[in-house]
Amino acid sequence: MSIQVCYDIFDRMKTDLKGLNARETEEWATSHGLEPYRGRQIRHWLLTRLANSSDEMTNMPKAIRALVRENAIINPLRVVKTLVSEDGTRKYLFILQDGHLIESVLIPERDHFTLCISSQAGCAMGCSFCLTGKQGLKRDLSASEIMEQVIVVKRSLEEPERMRNIVLMGMGEPLANYDAVMKALGSLIADDGMNFSHRKITLSTCGLVPEIKRMGRDITVNLAVSLNAADDETRSFLMPINRKYPLNSLIEACRGFPLPNRRMITFEYILINKVNDRNQDILKLSRLLSDMRAKINLIPLNPSPDSDMSPPPMNRILHFQDVLVKHHFTAIIRKSKGQDILAACGQLTGAFPDL
Ligand code: SAH
Ligand code: SF4
Repeated sequence: MSIQVCYDIFDRMKTDLKGLNARETEEWATSHGLEPYRGRQIRHWLLTRLANSSDEMTNMPKAIRALVRENAIINPLRVVKTLVSEDGTRKYLFILQDGHLIESVLIPERDHFTLCISSQAGCAMGCSFCLTGKQGLKRDLSASEIMEQVIVVKRSLEEPERMRNIVLMGMGEPLANYDAVMKALGSLIADDGMNFSHRKITLSTCGLVPEIKRMGRDITVNLAVSLNAADDETRSFLMPINRKYPLNSLIEACRGFPLPNRRMITFEYILINKVNDRNQDILKLSRLLSDMRAKINLIPLNPSPDSDMSPPPMNRILHFQDVLVKHHFTAIIRKSKGQDILAACGQLTGAFPDL
């Protein structure tokens, strides 16, 4: 069933406040005849107190609450559905104002939650193993649509402070939507924004080399690179972006990426039977990442029904890890959570059963 959204044409003339930084929110306030401190108060209500409407802004006069209601968008996303996996993973389906669908995934860890958010509806990168890639790109998300995923999910938690980690590993390629993603990250880590620790935020990229370099100059969050192969032939077969930015340029950008003390770059390596799990692959990978502050996440492929690629047998996966560890790498096997509700890596398409 397709979803039709009827949205208020006046909404298009309103300002989407969660997409503004602190200075812009003050400017918005003054352009509406308010003192700049009202802008700071509004931002505090939206990003710290997680207000759902201007009616909740109780320290502001009714006239200002009405002004905000009439001139600003406060809820750019709506939750259409949530699904809960048997392992506790929760998947949220959101509808954007123009009807596109995106997903976020909340993953329970021992003492906290990690939230995996989307940066685009669909993705243009076309990686052969990824269902999001099969859809193509619908559109970039705005900074406010990226922020709102965090706000809505945080508000739904009994203990919101337990949401500590944010990963940009949902739908889309974050560095292909650079400006909006950087703006959202800025508000996520700002003291007067959502105040997340930059150590707890990880951006994952398929390897857009110029933007990796730019990001190193612009913001301090963790970098994860979806590597998936250690030679150009295999990587270009799996990830078309490798033809534009082959491994030597990617690795050079990673080696130049500024890393704070004790921080490492995470390299994600999906293990695919007889494609990139051979002994020669392990050796090439060790050579490629030698002397780097690198951590390797091995992810057994989540197979999709229309593909003949499959994960390797468990003994092969363990062998792969074993040899990397012998080469002194930190290598962790990451079993994707939420497979029963299609919430695992590469399974996000915005299509929910019975919708
Ligand atoms: N576009 C970014 C972030 C989103 S993809 C990127 O590619 O890094 C998030 C992660 O899911 C990536 O590490 C990707 O390699 C992984 N992934 C995609 N499809 C997968 C699949 N079928 N099985 C396991 N992991 C997959
Ligand atoms: Fe896009 Fe990442 Fe999927 Fe590749 S793996 S198609 S870059 S979302």
